[in-house]
Amino acid sequence: MSGEIVGILERELGADAVIGPGHERLDDYGRDESPLPEFFPPSCAVLCATTAQVAAVLRLCAEHRVPVTPRGAGSGMCGGALPVAGGVVLSTERMTALRDIDDASLYCVTEPGVVTGRLQEAVEAQGLFYPPDPASLDYCSIGGNAATNAGGPRAFKYGVTREYVLGLEVVLMGGEVLRCGRRTAKGVTGYDLVAGFVGTEGTFGVITELTLKLLPKPPAAATVLGVFADAATAGTAITGLLRGGLRPSVLEIADRASIDVIRGKSRYRFPANAGAIVLLEVDGEAEDMERAMERIGMELDRLGALDVLAATEPADRANVWEARRLISKCLKDAYRIKVNEDVCVPRGRIVEMLARVDRISAETGIETAVFGHAGDGNLHVQLLGQDDPEDPAVRARMWGAAERVFVATVELGGTLSGEHGIGLSKMPYMRLEQSEQLLEWQRRWKQLWDPQQLLNPGKIIPGRRACAE
Ligand SMILES: Cc1cc2nc3c(=O)[nH]c(=O)nc-3n(C[C@H](O)[C@H](O)[C@H](O)COP(=O)(O)OP(=O)(O)OC[C@H]3O[C@@H](n4cnc5c(N)ncnc54)[C@H](O)[C@@H]3O)c2cc1C
Repeated sequence: MSGEIVGILERELGADAVIGPGHERLDDYGRDESPLPEFFPPSCAVLCATTAQVAAVLRLCAEHRVPVTPRGAGSGMCGGALPVAGGVVLSTERMTALRDIDDASLYCVTEPGVVTGRLQEAVEAQGLFYPPDPASLDYCSIGGNAATNAGGPRAFKYGVTREYVLGLEVVLMGGEVLRCGRRTAKGVTGYDLVAGFVGTEGTFGVITELTLKLLPKPPAAATVLGVFADAATAGTAITGLLRGGLRPSVLEIADRASIDVIRGKSRYRFPANAGAIVLLEVDGEAEDMERAMERIGMELDRLGALDVLAATEPADRANVWEARRLISKCLKDAYRIKVNEDVCVPRGRIVEMLARVDRISAETGIETAVFGHAGDGNLHVQLLGQDDPEDPAVRARMWGAAERVFVATVELGGTLSGEHGIGLSKMPYMRLEQSEQLLEWQRRWKQLWDPQQLLNPGKIIPGRRACAE
């Protein structure tokens, strides 16, 4: 039936909306940014431009029992957008209208395919602010951000995507269009279905419109960089900063391997003596910036920084952040295998987690790099190698080490994913953290929205009989 659906969708939506077999671009829809080497070919990709088209695809695929995998920009790190069961990839890349920015009521209404960074620029041009800032913001979609409940550096002060989604239009498998949520600053009318859809990685419905909360743009911001001898002292400093009651908007860490990989590749040059860095940002009134930076500088000195550097000019700050955002890409370019995890531990356990990663690296011989949103306890632990990623023995070794990282995380009271989601790659490890009872309730929840199990099947919740790998 999967073959027939291509013709059916071409007739319904027009041939230019369907990328079918033999098309040179079709393979792009079988991959994402996850560390999985497998390629999952879909029967076709459908580039929907309207809610009506999304509804038509979900109606026809339900009628013909064809699986559908929603896709934003394909920047996901855990295989959520991969069509593991074949069928149709439903892309929102043509749904790019930012429909309304209401500066009096502080919200905007947008289609899901808008690139996050473009949405931020558009609202900032009106003196407003949309804080969630995944490092992929130059290409990821706002719909994908809601589907994964994306975070980013500024989550430390401002929270993650869920806190900004006021309302959603969602199309359910079968084609029913559901509008939920509100445009008001507060609202507790009925069950919070919006929160229930955010973070479900396209397994409950396809998001076709979002109403997002905006804030007034902070008038000024400054970036401070603490240079440390190694990751352990940087981690201890982060714990000290948190205890000291400082509330910067951003509190990040990057270890030596993460810094070294971007040397010569970014405009900003990290100091040669940096064994690790702690990156902070403060925002607020312009007249408060200097005092805030001084206080942070003194704290960093007290906590053992070798050096403290500041960037206040917008161009300098942009260069620092460009360098930070390059870490993941440069590691991917430098190594043949990069298993990228985003575990999250309680903030008081960061130093222990860094030590556990060091131990796993020493015992397995696998190189690691660690960077990320340390203020939230959210560490991007990278397992790196130069061996053949297609070799099953190599993959088993890398994922064996990843499992040890997950076990350490859970033992420290943490969670498998702080922001990337579970998707396909982390599904086999769900039982390390969640009970069979909890998994069963989640299966029932999924059944409510998608009784035929056709929408993004094979993601997040392992099957009843599957064992953790
Ligand atoms: C270099 C790099 C840095 C990154 N940094 C961060 C970071 O700092 N923070 C962070 O949270 N993530 C980060 N990510 C991961 C990724 O960018 C986010 O998960 C992002 O939210 C995915 O958006 P997307 O549009 O690319 O979604 P996709 O990858 O296309 O899809 C992701 C999931 O969402 C579903 N989905 C997409 N659109 C919809 C829709 N309209 N309706 C329903 N379901 C949908 C898909 O089915 C899939 O399960 C990074 C990725 C890269 C490559």
